[in-house]
Amino acid sequence: ALPDSEEFDVVVVGGGPAGSTLAALTAMQGHRVLVLEKEFFPRHQIGESLLPATVHGVCRLTGVADELAAAGFPRKRGGTFKWGANPEPWTFSFSVSPRMTGPTSYAYQVERAKFDEILLNNARRVGAEVREGCAAVDVVEDEERVRGIRYTDADGREHRASATFVVDASGNGSRLYRRVGGTREYSEFFRSLALYGYFEGGKRLPEPNSGNILSVAFESGWFWYIPLSPDLTSVGAVVRREMADKIRGDSDKALAALIAECPLISEYLADARRVTEGPYGKLRVRKDYSYHHTTFSRPGMILVGDAACFVDPVFSSGVHLATYSALLAARSINSVLAGLVGEDRALREFESRYRREYGVFYEFLLSFYEMHQDENSYFWQAKKVTRANRPELESFVELIGGVSSGERVLTDAEVLAKRFSSGSAEFAAAVDELAGSEDGSMVPLFKSSVVREVMQEGGQVQMRALLGEDAEPEAPLSADGLVPSPDGMFWLPVQGTGE
Ligand code: FAD
Repeated sequence: ALPDSEEFDVVVVGGGPAGSTLAALTAMQGHRVLVLEKEFFPRHQIGESLLPATVHGVCRLTGVADELAAAGFPRKRGGTFKWGANPEPWTFSFSVSPRMTGPTSYAYQVERAKFDEILLNNARRVGAEVREGCAAVDVVEDEERVRGIRYTDADGREHRASATFVVDASGNGSRLYRRVGGTREYSEFFRSLALYGYFEGGKRLPEPNSGNILSVAFESGWFWYIPLSPDLTSVGAVVRREMADKIRGDSDKALAALIAECPLISEYLADARRVTEGPYGKLRVRKDYSYHHTTFSRPGMILVGDAACFVDPVFSSGVHLATYSALLAARSINSVLAGLVGEDRALREFESRYRREYGVFYEFLLSFYEMHQDENSYFWQAKKVTRANRPELESFVELIGGVSSGERVLTDAEVLAKRFSSGSAEFAAAVDELAGSEDGSMVPLFKSSVVREVMQEGGQVQMRALLGEDAEPEAPLSADGLVPSPDGMFWLPVQGTGE
């Protein structure tokens, strides 16, 4: 232990979904876990539209799924999109077909202030020590590894805590991630800006889709429209970074002008008023959010959630990647602390699986943007041009290189470029087929390789049921790879490979 410090097994910096999930999963194994959160909850955050894998998968493991179910969040059956060649909005449902609506084929739309507080209190309940108003200042390290953290409490007093593992779950605003080494690589393709606010009295999609997210492409970019309660809607525009000047001038005017440019969102907001007081009262801007770090760990330190990477707001992958990476990291920590696997191997497993999941979403979201064409639009044309850009692809190949699963044989940018374009075309065709199908069956979409991978990696039990033989079993990623234990809390060597 460090002199003058409290001793823990795990110190988690940040009490968002990544931090509280990691804290819960390690505290549940009896480890001494400290969470440092610089704000006092509830606090505002964006990222309100969730995926089923989070609420039925990871949140089931942390024991918070029932509490979430009782919290009254709107149920999201899927996403409704005015996007791509089809002039009519089309709907992507989490249930594979109308006949296969299962108990896990929905997610929630959440007010993050409430959602994050439920998750953080759950981490407390299962044994983590949570200190709000405490900001991490820097790691404490020696030549070998990170040994702990320096932080200040709400009164500005400085403290030290030592730990076997320091987990950086501090989101995209802190700079702690730099201490892991490597660099943060920003994406040119996803380099946009989001301007968002909240409205009361907005229109709802017809049942049974009133809880869906509505995403609408228009000339300057696209809108999200997320029902957070019967009355409250989160509305955001994703536009080119170059819009920053306009928005800086008068964001109210800028948002109103963007809404006016988009007929469907104008129609949905025709009788609505913007909330101008309380936590939802101001318009907010987010930029520089799309990046990945070149390394996710070093001895004694791990990055999870937005501290490590984020792709893009489209299709709601942020909280999924945050909670899923926390699950992967927790398995690694639990395994090392229990003496089951060495640290190096456990962190390699975490990093490979996390990068693969990030890669699956990266590819899916590229396909999503690729599907929409608008010859007259600066936003959509710029996306086309950047997509053809080699450096971006090359850096991405490097990122996932070496962690390819059997079917994902990605060796160079050439192969990857081909894969992206065929994936995008296949996806666009599946959307058209879906829009033309009589019963609205999701099967064509789920047969598209990019969607299939996203849903499989997300742990969709239903997908496996539907695809049968085509669904992939949980397999090690590499020859000396590890697989999850039956309870999901540890990594185990595949039989015969040993340590
Ligand atoms: P956070 O939620 O950011 O939590 C980090 C916590 O760390 C914060 O509470 C912060 O106060 C604390 N912290 C920071 N620094 C310190 C410090 N030094 N010491 C102690 N504590 C610290 N995702 C979705 O799933 N669905 C969406 O619809 C969606 N929409 C998005 C729209 C936009 C415009 C953007 C930019 C993102 C969107 N996301 C969405 C992504 C989502 O917001 C994030 O991926 C998610 O919040 C990441 O969770 P996290 O736990 O990693 O970080």
